[in-house]
Amino acid sequence: MRPCDRNVAGLTCLAVMADLSLYLDHDLPDARAAQIEAHVSACQQCASFGAAFAELITQVQERLREPDPVPADVESRLKARLLVRT
Ligand SMILES: [Zn+2]
Repeated sequence: MRPCDRNVAGLTCLAVMADLSLYLDHDLPDARAAQIEAHVSACQQCASFGAAFAELITQVQERLREPDPVPADVESRLKARLLVRT
């Protein structure tokens, strides 16, 4: 049996991977979310993968929420450049 075919707490790792994104978005029914939590708490492979995946999602969401601050002088420098060209 391959590691990803392991059945822990009634779910295979493949099933957990398939629902991981929905789980992190809180889009799963409570019963399904509880099954995934039970699996992950007993499955080191999914726990480490899930943690890395969740970290990535969190970073992307933070990136989307908070765009890099634009230095205050960028706008005036851009305008100066554009004015030089025209
Ligand atoms: Zn697993």
